[in-house]
Amino acid sequence: MRYFSTRGQTEPVAFQDAVLMGLASDGGLLIPESIPQVGDKLGAWAGLSFPDLAFEVLSPYVGDIPEADLRRLINAAYATFDSEAVVPLHPLKDLYVQELWHGPTLAFKDVALQLLGQLFEYILEARGEHLNILGATSGDTGSAAIAGARGRNNIDIFIMFPEGKTSPIQELQMTTVADENVHALAIDGTFDDCQAILKSIFRDLPFKARWHLGAVNSVNWARVLAQVVYYFHAYYAAGQKPLAFSVPTGNFGDIFAGWLAAKMGLPITQLILATNENDILSVFFNTGRYARGEVKFTISPSMDIQVASNFERFLFYRLGENAEALRGAMESFAETGAFQLDDGAPIDDLICAQAVGREETLATITAVHEEEGYLLDPHTAVGVAAGRALRKGDEPLVCLATAHPAKFPEAVNGAVGAPVATHPRVEGLAGLPKRSTPLPASEDAVKAFIEAHGRS
Ligand SMILES: *Cc1c(COP(=O)(O)O)cnc(C)c1O
Repeated sequence: MRYFSTRGQTEPVAFQDAVLMGLASDGGLLIPESIPQVGDKLGAWAGLSFPDLAFEVLSPYVGDIPEADLRRLINAAYATFDSEAVVPLHPLKDLYVQELWHGPTLAFKDVALQLLGQLFEYILEARGEHLNILGATSGDTGSAAIAGARGRNNIDIFIMFPEGKTSPIQELQMTTVADENVHALAIDGTFDDCQAILKSIFRDLPFKARWHLGAVNSVNWARVLAQVVYYFHAYYAAGQKPLAFSVPTGNFGDIFAGWLAAKMGLPITQLILATNENDILSVFFNTGRYARGEVKFTISPSMDIQVASNFERFLFYRLGENAEALRGAMESFAETGAFQLDDGAPIDDLICAQAVGREETLATITAVHEEEGYLLDPHTAVGVAAGRALRKGDEPLVCLATAHPAKFPEAVNGAVGAPVATHPRVEGLAGLPKRSTPLPASEDAVKAFIEAHGRS
């Protein structure tokens, strides 16, 4: 399979290069030359384990990794999960919750980042190259990226986080990792400072080339692909019937994977996009207007996002795979902070959207716990509330559970009125030795650290 940029100004690349590249060099996102159609294979895939299903779903998108190697990488990635089914469905009275949090850091980002770590190591080893991954995090992405990269050959990972501003658990997940290739940088500043430093360093092309800097952000194509698999898995686990999904959304990566699954031929009747008070995407899918606002801090912090980095992929297809029209829309958005889709056609025939506020989120956690003894984390609760509000028809509804409640104990315990949000792996972090380097919020300080500790 070959990959092109949404902005249409790069040479096509093969899968391995697409994985290493992350963002396309013209600033666009990579997309495959065609979307493989698998509708006639659904019957044959019934009964496959999650890794075997992942192999079938991914294969048509790869092409430059031998079958046995790809199977080995996938098996190793999901052996780190603590559930036999990897992404099991938990039935509630009116819907299914798909638990995507059985990986090492208890959040759904592990599904993609465990595989990405395997792919990076494999590709770099074959090429005799080394990669220094640099990232900035407000919480979940950093810990999942570290868990995917720790102990791997040919990779060092440097993660900047705002000191004292991530949750205590997220900080422990980053700072208690003992592997020498992991560098947690406690920045004296805000998450925006960390992101500004990241962008500025990636713009310094000579520095980037000298230190082989790479990224693990959510636009990486391999991350999208890994997420497509669990939509297929839900289809089999729910009895091979057409399904509706509700997806707690921030950067639009997770729901884009669902959209792609539908385009591949999986029978999906509805994709319900659930946001918290940061509602830029729900406003778009209800009105066609895409307008940047101020970030609001909520009890579902991993969705506190205004500009959704994966949205450009959807927009590319929505504009008829027209790179020029896409460039126009993105330029208008960059200049004015807004653009309006108004070609008279429906915005999308699958995606509908709703924003869910704090009170409704907490009430959903309380009610599901009281009525069914099951705990939702605040992100998942946003998805359950929106799913119940927007579902049409009688198709089963699958709500994606993106984090374990123990990652967000304050909100969950508050909603339930008792200290119920626990997990042995979270408790186990308490006594471990911590390791991080405090740095000022300065590009020069971070560069100096990479020069002292990175390998070129
Ligand atoms: C990242 C994240 C999300 C949002 O996923 P996107 O792919 O960015 O839309 C939702 N919930 C949790 C817990 C997350 O970590």
